Amino acid sequence: MLISDRLRNIKPSGVRRIFDLARQMKDPINLSIGEPDFDIPEPLKEEGIDWIRRGFNKYTPTQGIPELREKIASHLKKKGVHFEEVMITAGVTGGLLLASLALINPGDEVIIPDPYFVMYEYQVLLMGGIPVFVDTYPEFRLKEEEIVKKLSKKTKLIIINSPNNPAGTVYPKDDLMMVAKIARERDLFILSDDIYDNFVFDAPTCPCMGQLYEKTLTFGGFSKGWGMTGWRLGYAAGPRDILQQMITLQQYTFSSVNSFAQKAAIKALDFNVDDYIERYKKKRDLIYEGLKEKYHVQKPLGAFYIFPEVPGGNGEAFVERAIQQNLFIIPGSVFSKRNTHVRISFAASEEMLFRGIEILNRIG
Ligand code: PLP
Repeated sequence: MLISDRLRNIKPSGVRRIFDLARQMKDPINLSIGEPDFDIPEPLKEEGIDWIRRGFNKYTPTQGIPELREKIASHLKKKGVHFEEVMITAGVTGGLLLASLALINPGDEVIIPDPYFVMYEYQVLLMGGIPVFVDTYPEFRLKEEEIVKKLSKKTKLIIINSPNNPAGTVYPKDDLMMVAKIARERDLFILSDDIYDNFVFDAPTCPCMGQLYEKTLTFGGFSKGWGMTGWRLGYAAGPRDILQQMITLQQYTFSSVNSFAQKAAIKALDFNVDDYIERYKKKRDLIYEGLKEKYHVQKPLGAFYIFPEVPGGNGEAFVERAIQQNLFIIPGSVFSKRNTHVRISFAASEEMLFRGIEILNRIG
Protein backbone atom coordinates (compact mmCIF):
# COMPACT_ATOMS: atom_id res chain seq x y z
CA MET A 1 0.00 0.00 0.00
CA LEU A 2 1.36 3.36 -1.06
CA ILE A 3 -0.33 5.45 1.63
CA SER A 4 1.16 5.36 5.13
CA ASP A 5 -0.47 3.43 7.96
CA ARG A 6 -0.58 6.70 9.85
CA LEU A 7 -3.41 7.89 7.62
CA ARG A 8 -5.56 4.82 8.17
CA ASN A 9 -7.82 6.66 10.60
CA ILE A 10 -7.87 9.96 8.74
CA LYS A 11 -11.10 10.05 6.76
CA PRO A 12 -12.72 12.75 4.66
CA SER A 13 -15.58 14.47 6.46
CA GLY A 14 -18.70 12.35 6.88
CA VAL A 15 -20.79 15.31 5.79
CA ARG A 16 -19.18 15.67 2.40
CA ARG A 17 -22.63 15.49 0.84
CA ILE A 18 -23.53 18.72 2.63
CA PHE A 19 -20.36 20.47 1.55
CA ASP A 20 -20.99 19.27 -2.02
CA LEU A 21 -24.50 20.75 -1.87
CA ALA A 22 -23.09 23.99 -0.42
CA ARG A 23 -20.62 24.31 -3.28
CA GLN A 24 -23.52 24.46 -5.72
CA MET A 25 -25.12 27.40 -3.88
CA LYS A 26 -25.17 30.69 -5.75
CA ASP A 27 -24.64 33.73 -3.57
CA PRO A 28 -25.64 31.98 -0.31
CA ILE A 29 -26.34 33.55 3.04
CA ASN A 30 -23.16 32.15 4.41
CA LEU A 31 -23.12 31.73 8.18
CA SER A 32 -20.61 28.90 8.09
CA ILE A 33 -17.37 30.81 8.17
CA GLY A 34 -14.74 30.31 10.85
CA GLU A 35 -12.90 33.58 10.45
CA PRO A 36 -13.69 37.22 11.27
CA ASP A 37 -15.51 39.23 8.60
CA PHE A 38 -13.14 42.20 9.13
CA ASP A 39 -9.82 42.62 7.37
CA ILE A 40 -6.51 43.10 9.17
CA PRO A 41 -6.62 46.63 10.70
CA GLU A 42 -4.92 49.14 8.35
CA PRO A 43 -1.98 50.11 10.62
CA LEU A 44 -1.06 46.43 10.99
CA LYS A 45 -1.26 45.87 7.24
CA GLU A 46 0.96 48.92 6.76
CA GLU A 47 3.43 47.52 9.27
CA GLY A 48 3.61 44.19 7.39
CA ILE A 49 4.01 45.95 4.03
CA ASP A 50 6.68 48.23 5.44
CA TRP A 51 8.74 45.28 6.63
CA ILE A 52 8.38 43.55 3.23
CA ARG A 53 9.67 46.74 1.56
CA ARG A 54 12.52 46.95 4.03
CA GLY A 55 13.60 43.48 2.94
CA PHE A 56 12.55 41.55 6.00
CA ASN A 57 11.73 38.61 3.77
CA LYS A 58 14.18 35.87 4.71
CA TYR A 59 13.99 32.90 7.05
CA THR A 60 13.67 33.93 10.65
CA PRO A 61 14.99 32.01 13.68
CA THR A 62 13.17 28.68 14.08
CA GLN A 63 11.61 29.69 17.40
CA GLY A 64 10.54 33.11 16.04
CA ILE A 65 12.06 36.59 16.23
CA PRO A 66 13.18 37.56 19.75
CA GLU A 67 11.23 40.86 19.79
CA LEU A 68 7.93 39.06 19.23
CA ARG A 69 8.73 36.27 21.69
CA GLU A 70 9.50 38.88 24.35
CA LYS A 71 6.31 40.77 23.55
CA ILE A 72 4.22 37.62 23.87
CA ALA A 73 6.03 36.66 27.07
CA SER A 74 5.14 39.99 28.66
CA HIS A 75 1.54 39.72 27.37
CA LEU A 76 1.20 36.26 28.99
CA LYS A 77 2.86 37.42 32.22
CA LYS A 78 0.34 40.24 32.48
CA LYS A 79 -2.42 37.67 32.08
CA GLY A 80 -0.91 35.55 34.84
CA VAL A 81 -0.21 32.54 32.61
CA HIS A 82 2.43 30.04 33.78
CA PHE A 83 5.15 29.35 31.20
CA GLU A 84 8.92 29.10 30.90
CA GLU A 85 9.39 29.40 27.14
CA VAL A 86 7.57 30.90 24.17
CA MET A 87 7.84 29.99 20.50
CA ILE A 88 6.20 31.37 17.38
CA THR A 89 4.21 28.89 15.31
CA ALA A 90 2.43 28.68 11.96
CA GLY A 91 -0.91 29.51 13.53
CA VAL A 92 -2.35 27.61 16.45
CA THR A 93 -2.68 24.76 13.95
CA GLY A 94 1.10 24.56 13.61
CA GLY A 95 1.59 24.78 17.38
CA LEU A 96 -0.91 22.02 18.09
CA LEU A 97 0.72 19.77 15.52
CA LEU A 98 4.16 20.25 17.10
CA ALA A 99 2.72 19.59 20.56
CA SER A 100 0.94 16.46 19.35
CA LEU A 101 4.15 15.20 17.75
CA ALA A 102 6.09 15.95 20.92
CA LEU A 103 3.64 14.43 23.42
CA ILE A 104 1.40 11.73 21.96
CA ASN A 105 2.56 8.14 21.67
CA PRO A 106 0.49 5.53 19.84
CA GLY A 107 -2.18 4.30 22.25
CA ASP A 108 -2.13 7.43 24.44
CA GLU A 109 -5.59 8.71 25.29
CA VAL A 110 -6.49 12.37 24.96
CA ILE A 111 -9.55 13.79 26.69
CA ILE A 112 -11.53 16.16 24.45
CA PRO A 113 -14.69 17.90 25.72
CA ASP A 114 -17.46 17.44 23.13
CA PRO A 115 -18.38 19.56 21.11
CA TYR A 116 -14.85 20.37 19.96
CA PHE A 117 -12.81 21.96 17.19
CA VAL A 118 -12.50 19.17 14.66
CA MET A 119 -8.74 19.44 14.21
CA TYR A 120 -8.06 18.02 17.70
CA GLU A 121 -9.59 14.66 16.88
CA TYR A 122 -7.57 14.27 13.70
CA GLN A 123 -4.26 15.45 15.08
CA VAL A 124 -4.59 12.90 17.88
CA LEU A 125 -5.47 10.15 15.39
CA LEU A 126 -2.56 11.13 13.17
CA MET A 127 -0.19 10.38 16.07
CA GLY A 128 -1.84 7.00 16.67
CA GLY A 129 -3.44 8.41 19.82
CA ILE A 130 -7.00 7.79 20.94
CA PRO A 131 -9.39 10.73 21.26
CA VAL A 132 -11.70 10.21 24.24
CA PHE A 133 -14.72 12.50 24.15
CA VAL A 134 -16.39 13.92 27.23
CA ASP A 135 -19.97 15.07 26.75
CA THR A 136 -20.67 18.66 27.83
CA TYR A 137 -24.28 18.98 26.59
CA PRO A 138 -26.68 20.70 27.15
CA GLU A 139 -25.00 23.68 28.88
CA PHE A 140 -21.54 22.94 27.50
CA ARG A 141 -20.00 22.97 30.98
CA LEU A 142 -17.13 20.74 32.07
CA LYS A 143 -18.44 18.17 34.56
CA GLU A 144 -16.13 16.38 36.96
CA GLU A 145 -18.03 13.07 36.95
CA GLU A 146 -18.05 12.97 33.14
CA ILE A 147 -14.32 13.57 32.93
CA VAL A 148 -13.39 11.14 35.72
CA LYS A 149 -15.49 8.43 34.04
CA LYS A 150 -13.33 8.70 30.94
CA LEU A 151 -9.91 8.63 32.58
CA SER A 152 -7.72 5.53 32.30
CA LYS A 153 -4.10 4.54 32.84
CA LYS A 154 -3.49 5.61 29.25
CA THR A 155 -4.85 9.14 29.65
CA LYS A 156 -2.08 11.61 28.91
CA LEU A 157 -3.59 14.91 27.86
CA ILE A 158 -6.70 17.03 28.19
CA ILE A 159 -7.52 19.60 25.50
CA ILE A 160 -9.40 22.69 26.62
CA ASN A 161 -10.71 25.32 24.21
CA SER A 162 -12.26 28.42 25.77
CA PRO A 163 -13.85 30.54 24.34
CA ASN A 164 -15.09 27.52 22.49
CA ASN A 165 -15.58 26.68 18.85
CA PRO A 166 -18.37 25.65 18.11
CA ALA A 167 -20.41 26.34 21.28
CA GLY A 168 -19.33 29.92 22.11
CA THR A 169 -18.87 28.85 25.74
CA VAL A 170 -16.42 30.57 28.04
CA TYR A 171 -15.78 28.01 30.78
CA PRO A 172 -16.12 29.56 34.22
CA LYS A 173 -13.04 29.57 36.43
CA ASP A 174 -14.58 26.89 38.66
CA ASP A 175 -14.76 24.45 35.74
CA LEU A 176 -11.14 25.12 34.85
CA MET A 177 -10.05 24.73 38.49
CA MET A 178 -11.78 21.36 38.61
CA VAL A 179 -9.90 20.28 35.46
CA ALA A 180 -6.62 21.52 36.98
CA LYS A 181 -7.33 19.47 40.13
CA ILE A 182 -7.92 16.30 38.10
CA ALA A 183 -4.83 16.94 35.99
CA ARG A 184 -2.68 17.55 39.07
CA GLU A 185 -3.88 14.38 40.80
CA ARG A 186 -3.18 12.25 37.73
CA ASP A 187 -0.14 14.13 36.49
CA LEU A 188 -1.78 14.92 33.14
CA PHE A 189 -0.78 17.59 30.68
CA ILE A 190 -3.20 20.20 29.40
CA LEU A 191 -3.30 21.80 25.97
CA SER A 192 -5.20 25.07 26.19
CA ASP A 193 -6.34 26.54 22.88
CA ASP A 194 -6.97 30.21 23.70
CA ILE A 195 -7.24 31.44 20.12
CA TYR A 196 -10.53 33.28 20.75
CA ASP A 197 -9.39 35.00 23.94
CA ASN A 198 -10.04 38.45 22.43
CA PHE A 199 -13.65 37.55 21.72
CA VAL A 200 -15.23 37.76 25.16
CA PHE A 201 -18.49 39.69 25.39
CA ASP A 202 -19.72 39.98 28.95
CA ALA A 203 -16.51 40.35 30.93
CA PRO A 204 -13.25 42.21 30.29
CA THR A 205 -11.26 38.94 30.00
CA CYS A 206 -11.76 35.21 30.35
CA PRO A 207 -10.00 32.77 32.66
CA CYS A 208 -7.63 30.27 31.04
CA MET A 209 -6.01 26.97 32.01
CA GLY A 210 -2.49 28.41 31.89
CA GLN A 211 -3.32 30.65 34.86
CA LEU A 212 -4.29 27.67 36.98
CA TYR A 213 -1.99 24.79 36.13
CA GLU A 214 1.74 24.78 35.43
CA LYS A 215 1.69 21.74 33.16
CA THR A 216 -0.30 23.61 30.54
CA LEU A 217 0.75 24.39 27.01
CA THR A 218 -1.01 27.60 26.05
CA PHE A 219 -1.74 28.29 22.38
CA GLY A 220 -2.69 31.68 21.07
CA GLY A 221 -2.67 33.44 17.77
CA PHE A 222 -3.38 36.36 15.53
CA SER A 223 -5.87 34.72 13.12
CA LYS A 224 -9.05 35.63 14.91
CA GLY A 225 -8.37 38.68 17.08
CA TRP A 226 -6.68 40.69 14.33
CA GLY A 227 -8.16 39.04 11.22
CA MET A 228 -4.81 37.56 10.15
CA THR A 229 -6.00 34.06 9.22
CA GLY A 230 -4.02 34.02 5.97
CA TRP A 231 -0.80 35.27 7.59
CA ARG A 232 -0.50 32.04 9.56
CA LEU A 233 0.83 33.22 12.87
CA GLY A 234 0.43 31.93 16.39
CA TYR A 235 2.42 31.01 19.46
CA ALA A 236 2.86 28.29 22.03
CA ALA A 237 4.03 28.78 25.61
CA GLY A 238 4.68 26.40 28.46
CA PRO A 239 7.31 24.27 30.19
CA ARG A 240 10.79 24.66 28.73
CA ASP A 241 11.56 20.97 28.16
CA ILE A 242 8.51 20.53 25.93
CA LEU A 243 8.93 23.83 24.12
CA GLN A 244 12.52 22.92 23.32
CA GLN A 245 11.36 19.67 21.71
CA MET A 246 8.73 21.57 19.75
CA ILE A 247 11.33 24.06 18.51
CA THR A 248 13.52 21.17 17.32
CA LEU A 249 10.50 19.68 15.55
CA GLN A 250 9.71 23.04 13.95
CA GLN A 251 13.22 23.06 12.52
CA TYR A 252 12.50 19.83 10.63
CA THR A 253 8.92 20.61 9.61
CA PHE A 254 7.94 24.26 9.17
CA SER A 255 11.56 25.48 9.39
CA SER A 256 10.42 28.95 10.46
CA VAL A 257 7.27 31.02 10.12
CA ASN A 258 6.12 34.07 8.15
CA SER A 259 8.70 36.86 8.54
CA PHE A 260 6.76 40.12 8.04
CA ALA A 261 3.71 38.84 9.94
CA GLN A 262 5.89 38.43 13.02
CA LYS A 263 6.85 42.11 12.84
CA ALA A 264 3.24 43.18 12.37
CA ALA A 265 2.19 40.95 15.28
CA ILE A 266 4.38 42.96 17.66
CA LYS A 267 2.18 45.96 16.84
CA ALA A 268 -0.98 43.84 16.95
CA LEU A 269 -0.51 43.05 20.62
CA ASP A 270 -0.69 46.80 21.36
CA PHE A 271 -3.49 47.43 18.88
CA ASN A 272 -6.76 47.84 20.68
CA VAL A 273 -9.55 45.75 19.16
CA ASP A 274 -12.28 46.73 21.63
CA ASP A 275 -14.36 48.35 18.84
CA TYR A 276 -14.25 45.16 16.83
CA ILE A 277 -15.31 43.09 19.82
CA GLU A 278 -18.11 45.54 20.62
CA ARG A 279 -19.44 45.05 17.08
CA TYR A 280 -19.29 41.28 17.54
CA LYS A 281 -21.14 41.58 20.80
CA LYS A 282 -23.94 43.36 18.90
CA LYS A 283 -23.99 40.55 16.36
CA ARG A 284 -24.08 38.01 19.19
CA ASP A 285 -27.07 39.81 20.74
CA LEU A 286 -28.80 40.04 17.41
CA ILE A 287 -28.57 36.33 16.61
CA TYR A 288 -29.26 35.15 20.15
CA GLU A 289 -32.34 37.35 20.47
CA GLY A 290 -33.42 36.27 17.00
CA LEU A 291 -33.24 32.55 17.79
CA LYS A 292 -34.03 32.16 21.46
CA GLU A 293 -37.83 31.98 21.10
CA LYS A 294 -37.78 29.11 18.68
CA TYR A 295 -34.63 27.23 19.62
CA HIS A 296 -33.02 25.70 22.68
CA VAL A 297 -29.86 27.73 22.66
CA GLN A 298 -27.15 28.89 25.05
CA LYS A 299 -26.12 32.53 24.84
CA PRO A 300 -22.53 32.55 23.52
CA LEU A 301 -20.16 34.33 25.90
CA GLY A 302 -17.24 34.30 23.48
CA ALA A 303 -15.84 33.39 20.03
CA PHE A 304 -18.29 34.06 17.16
CA TYR A 305 -20.47 30.99 16.98
CA ILE A 306 -23.88 30.05 18.29
CA PHE A 307 -24.82 26.39 18.62
CA PRO A 308 -28.59 25.83 18.85
CA GLU A 309 -30.31 22.47 19.11
CA VAL A 310 -32.51 21.87 16.09
CA PRO A 311 -36.16 20.87 16.31
CA GLY A 312 -36.43 17.19 15.46
CA GLY A 313 -32.88 16.60 16.60
CA ASN A 314 -31.26 15.89 13.24
CA GLY A 315 -28.66 18.56 12.52
CA GLU A 316 -27.62 17.22 9.13
CA ALA A 317 -31.18 16.99 7.80
CA PHE A 318 -31.81 20.50 9.15
CA VAL A 319 -28.76 21.89 7.31
CA GLU A 320 -29.99 20.33 4.07
CA ARG A 321 -33.28 22.15 4.56
CA ALA A 322 -31.41 25.40 5.28
CA ILE A 323 -29.34 24.97 2.11
CA GLN A 324 -32.54 24.61 0.09
CA GLN A 325 -33.46 28.06 1.46
CA ASN A 326 -30.03 29.41 0.43
CA LEU A 327 -28.63 29.47 3.98
CA PHE A 328 -25.34 27.72 4.67
CA ILE A 329 -24.61 26.62 8.24
CA ILE A 330 -22.68 23.60 9.56
CA PRO A 331 -24.15 20.50 11.16
CA GLY A 332 -23.07 19.96 14.75
CA SER A 333 -21.94 16.45 13.84
CA VAL A 334 -18.82 17.99 12.28
CA PHE A 335 -17.80 19.06 15.80
CA SER A 336 -19.39 16.37 17.90
CA LYS A 337 -20.38 12.76 18.32
CA ARG A 338 -23.96 14.09 18.44
CA ASN A 339 -25.99 15.27 15.47
CA THR A 340 -28.53 17.33 17.37
CA HIS A 341 -27.23 20.88 16.92
CA VAL A 342 -25.97 23.22 14.21
CA ARG A 343 -23.13 25.74 14.25
CA ILE A 344 -23.99 29.22 13.06
CA SER A 345 -21.18 31.72 12.67
CA PHE A 346 -22.07 35.34 13.36
CA ALA A 347 -18.87 36.59 11.74
CA ALA A 348 -21.03 38.16 9.02
CA SER A 349 -22.73 41.46 8.22
CA GLU A 350 -25.85 42.39 10.17
CA GLU A 351 -27.82 42.22 6.94
CA MET A 352 -26.73 38.59 6.41
CA LEU A 353 -27.57 37.81 10.02
CA PHE A 354 -31.09 39.27 9.68
CA ARG A 355 -31.67 37.23 6.52
CA GLY A 356 -30.31 34.09 8.21
CA ILE A 357 -32.48 34.58 11.30
CA GLU A 358 -35.58 35.01 9.15
CA ILE A 359 -34.91 31.67 7.40
CA LEU A 360 -34.05 29.88 10.63
CA ASN A 361 -37.33 31.00 12.17
CA ARG A 362 -39.22 29.88 9.08
CA ILE A 363 -37.74 26.38 8.91
CA GLY A 364 -37.29 25.84 12.66
N1 PLP B 1 -8.31 26.58 17.24
C1 PLP B 1 -9.63 26.81 17.08
C2 PLP B 1 -10.55 26.53 18.22
C3 PLP B 1 -10.13 27.32 15.87
O1 PLP B 1 -11.44 27.55 15.73
C4 PLP B 1 -9.23 27.57 14.81
C5 PLP B 1 -9.73 28.05 13.51
O2 PLP B 1 -10.88 27.98 13.18
C6 PLP B 1 -7.87 27.30 15.00
C7 PLP B 1 -7.44 26.81 16.23
C8 PLP B 1 -6.86 27.51 13.92
O3 PLP B 1 -6.14 28.65 14.19
P1 PLP B 1 -4.91 29.18 13.33
O4 PLP B 1 -5.48 29.99 12.19
O5 PLP B 1 -4.14 30.02 14.28
O6 PLP B 1 -4.17 27.99 12.85
